[in-house]
Amino acid sequence: FDSVAILTSGGDSPGMNPAIRALTRAAFNSGISHVYGINRGYSGLINNDIQKMTSRSVTNIVQRGGTVLKSARCLEFKEPNVRQDAAKILRDRGIEALFVIGGDGSMTGAHLFTEETGIPVIGLPGTIDNDIPGSDDTIGFDTAVNTALEAIDKIRDTAQSHERLFLVEVMGRNSGFIATQVGIACGAEMVVVPEYDFDLRELCLTLAQRRATGQGSSGIIVVAEGKDPGLTNRIAYQLEEQGQNPRICILGHIQRGGSPSGHDRMLASCLGASAVSYLLAGYNDIMVGVNQGSIVDIPLRRVITETKSLNRHLFDITTLLHK
Ligand code: ATP
Repeated sequence: FDSVAILTSGGDSPGMNPAIRALTRAAFNSGISHVYGINRGYSGLINNDIQKMTSRSVTNIVQRGGTVLKSARCLEFKEPNVRQDAAKILRDRGIEALFVIGGDGSMTGAHLFTEETGIPVIGLPGTIDNDIPGSDDTIGFDTAVNTALEAIDKIRDTAQSHERLFLVEVMGRNSGFIATQVGIACGAEMVVVPEYDFDLRELCLTLAQRRATGQGSSGIIVVAEGKDPGLTNRIAYQLEEQGQNPRICILGHIQRGGSPSGHDRMLASCLGASAVSYLLAGYNDIMVGVNQGSIVDIPLRRVITETKSLNRHLFDITTLLHK
Protein backbone atom coordinates (compact mmCIF):
# COMPACT_ATOMS: atom_id res chain seq x y z
CA PHE A 1 0.00 0.00 0.00
CA ASP A 2 1.28 3.41 -0.93
CA SER A 3 -1.71 5.65 -0.22
CA VAL A 4 -4.39 5.43 2.48
CA ALA A 5 -7.14 7.66 3.93
CA ILE A 6 -8.69 8.17 7.36
CA LEU A 7 -12.16 9.40 8.37
CA THR A 8 -14.09 9.83 11.63
CA SER A 9 -17.85 9.23 11.54
CA GLY A 10 -20.93 9.26 13.78
CA GLY A 11 -20.87 10.88 17.20
CA ASP A 12 -17.44 12.26 18.11
CA SER A 13 -15.65 10.65 21.03
CA PRO A 14 -12.63 11.63 23.12
CA GLY A 15 -9.72 9.66 21.70
CA MET A 16 -10.54 10.02 18.02
CA ASN A 17 -7.63 12.48 17.73
CA PRO A 18 -4.99 10.14 19.20
CA ALA A 19 -6.39 7.46 16.86
CA ILE A 20 -5.95 9.76 13.83
CA ARG A 21 -2.44 10.57 15.02
CA ALA A 22 -1.53 6.91 15.52
CA LEU A 23 -2.87 5.85 12.11
CA THR A 24 -1.06 8.70 10.36
CA ARG A 25 2.28 8.26 12.09
CA ALA A 26 2.21 4.44 11.96
CA ALA A 27 1.36 4.58 8.25
CA PHE A 28 4.29 6.87 7.41
CA ASN A 29 6.66 4.95 9.66
CA SER A 30 5.62 1.68 8.01
CA GLY A 31 6.54 2.91 4.53
CA ILE A 32 3.18 4.19 3.26
CA SER A 33 3.96 7.34 1.25
CA HIS A 34 0.62 9.17 1.27
CA VAL A 35 -1.93 9.61 4.03
CA TYR A 36 -5.15 11.56 3.42
CA GLY A 37 -7.59 12.94 5.96
CA ILE A 38 -11.24 12.95 4.88
CA ASN A 39 -13.28 15.72 6.52
CA ARG A 40 -16.76 15.17 8.04
CA GLY A 41 -16.96 11.40 7.75
CA TYR A 42 -18.69 9.79 4.76
CA SER A 43 -20.08 13.20 3.89
CA GLY A 44 -16.58 14.50 3.10
CA LEU A 45 -15.83 11.32 1.18
CA ILE A 46 -18.75 11.75 -1.20
CA ASN A 47 -18.03 15.48 -1.55
CA ASN A 48 -14.31 14.96 -2.21
CA ASP A 49 -13.43 17.02 0.89
CA ILE A 50 -10.06 15.37 1.35
CA GLN A 51 -6.69 16.75 2.44
CA LYS A 52 -3.15 15.47 2.49
CA MET A 53 -1.77 14.68 5.92
CA THR A 54 1.82 14.91 6.98
CA SER A 55 3.46 13.52 10.06
CA ARG A 56 3.39 17.05 11.47
CA SER A 57 -0.29 17.68 10.77
CA VAL A 58 -1.11 15.43 13.72
CA THR A 59 1.30 17.15 16.09
CA ASN A 60 -0.22 18.32 19.36
CA ILE A 61 -3.59 16.57 18.97
CA VAL A 62 -3.04 13.54 21.22
CA GLN A 63 -4.55 15.42 24.17
CA ARG A 64 -7.43 17.10 22.34
CA GLY A 65 -11.06 15.99 22.54
CA GLY A 66 -13.34 15.76 19.48
CA THR A 67 -11.85 15.06 16.07
CA VAL A 68 -9.68 17.35 13.96
CA LEU A 69 -11.13 15.65 10.87
CA LYS A 70 -14.64 16.60 12.07
CA SER A 71 -17.49 14.15 12.08
CA ALA A 72 -20.93 14.02 10.54
CA ARG A 73 -23.92 11.83 9.89
CA CYS A 74 -24.41 11.18 6.17
CA LEU A 75 -27.64 9.46 5.20
CA GLU A 76 -26.75 9.42 1.48
CA PHE A 77 -24.02 6.88 2.20
CA LYS A 78 -26.77 4.30 2.78
CA GLU A 79 -27.36 4.31 -1.01
CA PRO A 80 -25.27 1.75 -2.97
CA ASN A 81 -24.78 4.08 -5.97
CA VAL A 82 -23.43 6.80 -3.64
CA ARG A 83 -20.91 4.30 -2.25
CA GLN A 84 -19.80 3.50 -5.82
CA ASP A 85 -19.30 7.24 -6.49
CA ALA A 86 -17.28 7.46 -3.26
CA ALA A 87 -15.05 4.60 -4.41
CA LYS A 88 -14.38 6.42 -7.69
CA ILE A 89 -13.30 9.52 -5.75
CA LEU A 90 -10.75 7.44 -3.82
CA ARG A 91 -9.52 5.62 -6.93
CA ASP A 92 -9.11 8.88 -8.85
CA ARG A 93 -6.84 10.10 -6.06
CA GLY A 94 -4.92 6.82 -6.00
CA ILE A 95 -6.11 6.04 -2.46
CA GLU A 96 -5.95 2.28 -1.97
CA ALA A 97 -7.41 1.71 1.52
CA LEU A 98 -9.58 3.42 4.11
CA PHE A 99 -9.53 3.57 7.93
CA VAL A 100 -12.90 4.36 9.53
CA ILE A 101 -13.12 5.47 13.17
CA GLY A 102 -16.70 5.45 14.45
CA GLY A 103 -19.61 3.61 16.00
CA ASP A 104 -21.72 0.68 14.79
CA GLY A 105 -23.45 2.69 12.05
CA SER A 106 -20.07 3.75 10.71
CA MET A 107 -18.92 0.11 10.76
CA THR A 108 -22.01 -0.86 8.74
CA GLY A 109 -21.11 1.72 6.11
CA ALA A 110 -17.49 0.51 6.14
CA HIS A 111 -18.47 -3.12 5.61
CA LEU A 112 -20.86 -2.37 2.74
CA PHE A 113 -18.29 -0.08 1.14
CA THR A 114 -15.51 -2.66 1.02
CA GLU A 115 -17.86 -5.51 0.07
CA GLU A 116 -19.27 -3.60 -2.90
CA THR A 117 -16.17 -1.77 -4.12
CA GLY A 118 -13.24 -4.03 -3.17
CA ILE A 119 -11.39 -1.11 -1.54
CA PRO A 120 -9.89 -2.48 1.71
CA VAL A 121 -11.32 -1.01 4.90
CA ILE A 122 -10.21 -1.33 8.53
CA GLY A 123 -12.50 -0.03 11.28
CA LEU A 124 -11.64 1.34 14.73
CA PRO A 125 -14.34 1.41 17.43
CA GLY A 126 -14.82 5.09 18.27
CA THR A 127 -17.86 5.81 20.43
CA ILE A 128 -18.47 6.74 24.06
CA ASP A 129 -21.27 4.15 24.25
CA ASN A 130 -19.07 1.00 24.31
CA ASP A 131 -21.84 -0.80 22.41
CA ILE A 132 -19.77 -2.30 19.59
CA PRO A 133 -19.83 -6.12 19.38
CA GLY A 134 -16.50 -7.95 19.37
CA SER A 135 -14.57 -5.38 21.40
CA ASP A 136 -14.58 -5.12 25.19
CA ASP A 137 -13.77 -1.43 24.96
CA THR A 138 -14.27 1.52 22.63
CA ILE A 139 -12.31 4.73 22.17
CA GLY A 140 -13.97 7.40 24.32
CA PHE A 141 -15.88 5.22 26.78
CA ASP A 142 -13.43 5.62 29.65
CA THR A 143 -13.30 9.39 29.28
CA ALA A 144 -17.10 9.64 29.14
CA VAL A 145 -17.43 7.55 32.31
CA ASN A 146 -14.92 9.77 34.10
CA THR A 147 -16.59 12.97 32.92
CA ALA A 148 -19.97 11.74 34.16
CA LEU A 149 -18.42 10.74 37.50
CA GLU A 150 -16.88 14.15 38.01
CA ALA A 151 -20.28 15.78 37.43
CA ILE A 152 -22.15 13.33 39.67
CA ASP A 153 -19.69 13.78 42.53
CA LYS A 154 -20.62 17.47 42.47
CA ILE A 155 -24.33 16.74 42.25
CA ARG A 156 -24.01 14.47 45.27
CA ASP A 157 -22.75 17.37 47.38
CA THR A 158 -26.02 19.19 46.71
CA ALA A 159 -28.08 16.01 47.08
CA GLN A 160 -26.62 15.48 50.54
CA SER A 161 -26.84 19.11 51.64
CA HIS A 162 -30.51 19.28 50.70
CA GLU A 163 -31.34 15.65 51.54
CA ARG A 164 -32.70 15.28 48.08
CA LEU A 165 -32.92 12.56 45.48
CA PHE A 166 -31.37 13.27 42.07
CA LEU A 167 -32.10 11.45 38.83
CA VAL A 168 -29.01 11.78 36.65
CA GLU A 169 -29.45 10.82 33.01
CA VAL A 170 -26.32 9.62 31.22
CA MET A 171 -25.72 8.86 27.53
CA GLY A 172 -25.33 5.40 25.99
CA ARG A 173 -27.87 5.23 23.16
CA ASN A 174 -29.76 1.97 23.62
CA SER A 175 -27.26 0.42 25.98
CA GLY A 176 -26.49 0.67 29.67
CA PHE A 177 -22.70 0.38 29.65
CA ILE A 178 -22.03 3.97 30.67
CA ALA A 179 -24.86 3.94 33.24
CA THR A 180 -23.67 0.70 34.85
CA GLN A 181 -20.04 1.72 35.23
CA VAL A 182 -20.94 5.23 36.32
CA GLY A 183 -23.55 3.88 38.75
CA ILE A 184 -21.09 1.51 40.42
CA ALA A 185 -18.29 4.06 40.55
CA CYS A 186 -20.37 6.94 41.93
CA GLY A 187 -22.11 4.76 44.51
CA ALA A 188 -25.58 5.29 43.01
CA GLU A 189 -28.59 4.14 45.02
CA MET A 190 -30.05 2.70 41.82
CA VAL A 191 -29.17 2.27 38.16
CA VAL A 192 -31.77 2.12 35.39
CA VAL A 193 -30.69 0.60 32.06
CA PRO A 194 -32.67 -0.35 28.95
CA GLU A 195 -31.54 -3.98 29.21
CA TYR A 196 -33.18 -4.82 32.55
CA ASP A 197 -36.42 -4.07 34.40
CA PHE A 198 -36.34 -1.86 37.45
CA ASP A 199 -38.49 -1.59 40.56
CA LEU A 200 -38.77 1.81 42.21
CA ARG A 201 -40.87 0.65 45.15
CA GLU A 202 -37.97 -0.98 46.95
CA LEU A 203 -35.85 2.14 46.58
CA CYS A 204 -38.66 4.35 47.90
CA LEU A 205 -39.08 2.05 50.90
CA THR A 206 -35.39 2.28 51.71
CA LEU A 207 -35.46 6.06 51.35
CA ALA A 208 -38.54 6.33 53.58
CA GLN A 209 -36.85 4.14 56.22
CA ARG A 210 -33.73 6.28 56.07
CA ARG A 211 -35.76 9.43 56.51
CA ALA A 212 -37.69 7.90 59.43
CA THR A 213 -34.44 7.11 61.21
CA GLY A 214 -33.10 10.61 60.65
CA GLN A 215 -30.53 9.63 58.03
CA GLY A 216 -32.02 11.92 55.40
CA SER A 217 -33.17 10.75 51.98
CA SER A 218 -30.52 11.94 49.61
CA GLY A 219 -29.44 9.74 46.77
CA ILE A 220 -28.44 9.39 43.16
CA ILE A 221 -30.32 7.34 40.59
CA VAL A 222 -28.40 6.94 37.35
CA VAL A 223 -30.66 6.53 34.32
CA ALA A 224 -29.39 5.48 30.90
CA GLU A 225 -30.94 7.64 28.16
CA GLY A 226 -32.22 4.50 26.37
CA LYS A 227 -34.70 4.41 23.53
CA ASP A 228 -37.38 6.26 25.44
CA PRO A 229 -36.69 10.01 25.73
CA GLY A 230 -39.39 10.54 28.39
CA LEU A 231 -38.23 7.81 30.78
CA THR A 232 -36.37 10.01 33.27
CA ASN A 233 -39.37 12.33 33.59
CA ARG A 234 -41.70 9.40 34.12
CA ILE A 235 -39.48 7.97 36.85
CA ALA A 236 -39.46 11.39 38.53
CA TYR A 237 -43.26 11.44 38.36
CA GLN A 238 -43.50 7.95 39.89
CA LEU A 239 -41.14 9.00 42.67
CA GLU A 240 -43.26 12.07 43.38
CA GLU A 241 -46.30 9.84 43.66
CA GLN A 242 -44.43 7.86 46.28
CA GLY A 243 -43.68 10.92 48.34
CA GLN A 244 -40.26 11.87 47.00
CA ASN A 245 -39.29 15.24 45.58
CA PRO A 246 -36.57 14.37 43.07
CA ARG A 247 -34.56 16.68 40.84
CA ILE A 248 -33.50 15.76 37.33
CA CYS A 249 -30.09 16.42 35.83
CA ILE A 250 -29.42 15.43 32.22
CA LEU A 251 -25.66 15.37 31.69
CA GLY A 252 -25.95 15.49 27.89
CA HIS A 253 -23.13 16.44 25.58
CA ILE A 254 -20.51 17.24 28.21
CA GLN A 255 -20.00 13.45 28.22
CA ARG A 256 -18.83 13.48 24.61
CA GLY A 257 -16.22 16.19 24.95
CA GLY A 258 -13.04 16.82 26.86
CA SER A 259 -9.47 15.72 26.76
CA PRO A 260 -9.18 11.93 26.35
CA SER A 261 -8.17 10.03 29.48
CA GLY A 262 -4.82 8.25 29.66
CA HIS A 263 -6.66 4.98 29.07
CA ASP A 264 -8.37 6.26 25.91
CA ARG A 265 -5.13 7.75 24.55
CA MET A 266 -3.42 4.39 25.04
CA LEU A 267 -6.32 2.47 23.51
CA ALA A 268 -6.54 4.80 20.50
CA SER A 269 -2.78 4.75 19.95
CA CYS A 270 -2.49 0.97 20.16
CA LEU A 271 -5.56 0.35 17.99
CA GLY A 272 -4.33 2.88 15.41
CA ALA A 273 -0.88 1.35 15.19
CA SER A 274 -2.35 -2.17 15.02
CA ALA A 275 -4.85 -1.19 12.33
CA VAL A 276 -1.97 -0.18 10.05
CA SER A 277 -0.17 -3.48 10.77
CA TYR A 278 -3.32 -5.47 9.98
CA LEU A 279 -3.76 -3.64 6.68
CA LEU A 280 -0.15 -4.23 5.67
CA ALA A 281 -0.50 -7.91 6.63
CA GLY A 282 -3.33 -8.22 4.10
CA TYR A 283 -6.37 -8.01 6.37
CA ASN A 284 -9.54 -6.36 5.10
CA ASP A 285 -13.17 -5.91 6.17
CA ILE A 286 -12.23 -6.06 9.85
CA MET A 287 -12.42 -3.86 12.92
CA VAL A 288 -9.56 -3.82 15.40
CA GLY A 289 -10.71 -4.18 18.98
CA VAL A 290 -9.82 -5.45 22.43
CA ASN A 291 -10.54 -8.90 23.82
CA GLN A 292 -9.45 -9.66 27.39
CA GLY A 293 -6.64 -7.15 27.17
CA SER A 294 -5.32 -8.18 23.76
CA ILE A 295 -5.77 -6.43 20.45
CA VAL A 296 -7.73 -8.58 18.04
CA ASP A 297 -9.33 -8.38 14.60
CA ILE A 298 -13.08 -8.82 14.33
CA PRO A 299 -14.78 -9.35 10.94
CA LEU A 300 -16.97 -6.33 10.22
CA ARG A 301 -19.80 -8.69 9.29
CA ARG A 302 -19.76 -9.93 12.89
CA VAL A 303 -19.55 -6.41 14.27
CA ILE A 304 -22.68 -5.34 12.43
CA THR A 305 -24.81 -8.46 12.87
CA GLU A 306 -24.23 -9.24 16.54
CA THR A 307 -25.29 -7.21 19.56
CA LYS A 308 -23.14 -6.61 22.60
CA SER A 309 -24.91 -7.52 25.78
CA LEU A 310 -24.44 -5.88 29.13
CA ASN A 311 -22.70 -8.17 31.61
CA ARG A 312 -25.41 -9.24 34.07
CA HIS A 313 -22.90 -9.91 36.85
CA LEU A 314 -21.54 -6.39 36.50
CA PHE A 315 -25.01 -4.91 36.54
CA ASP A 316 -25.93 -6.94 39.64
CA ILE A 317 -23.06 -5.28 41.49
CA THR A 318 -25.06 -2.05 41.32
CA THR A 319 -27.61 -3.65 43.66
CA LEU A 320 -25.11 -5.49 45.85
CA LEU A 321 -23.45 -2.37 47.15
CA HIS A 322 -26.43 -0.67 48.76
CA LYS A 323 -26.56 0.30 52.39
P1 ATP B 1 -22.43 6.62 17.44
O1 ATP B 1 -22.48 5.26 18.08
O2 ATP B 1 -21.49 7.51 18.15
O3 ATP B 1 -23.75 7.24 17.18
P2 ATP B 1 -22.36 5.64 14.73
O4 ATP B 1 -21.23 5.37 13.82
O5 ATP B 1 -23.18 4.45 15.16
O6 ATP B 1 -21.75 6.42 15.98
P3 ATP B 1 -24.47 6.58 13.00
O7 ATP B 1 -25.10 7.91 12.85
O8 ATP B 1 -25.33 5.40 13.27
O9 ATP B 1 -23.33 6.74 14.11
O10 ATP B 1 -23.67 6.26 11.65
C1 ATP B 1 -22.69 7.16 11.16
C2 ATP B 1 -22.71 7.18 9.68
O11 ATP B 1 -22.42 5.86 9.17
C3 ATP B 1 -24.06 7.52 9.07
O12 ATP B 1 -24.30 8.90 9.05
C4 ATP B 1 -23.90 6.96 7.66
O13 ATP B 1 -23.10 7.81 6.88
C5 ATP B 1 -23.11 5.67 7.95
N1 ATP B 1 -24.06 4.56 8.06
C6 ATP B 1 -24.81 4.22 9.13
N2 ATP B 1 -25.61 3.18 8.85
C7 ATP B 1 -25.37 2.83 7.57
C8 ATP B 1 -25.87 1.84 6.67
N3 ATP B 1 -26.82 0.99 7.07
N4 ATP B 1 -25.37 1.80 5.44
C9 ATP B 1 -24.41 2.65 5.05
N5 ATP B 1 -23.90 3.62 5.82
C10 ATP B 1 -24.35 3.70 7.07
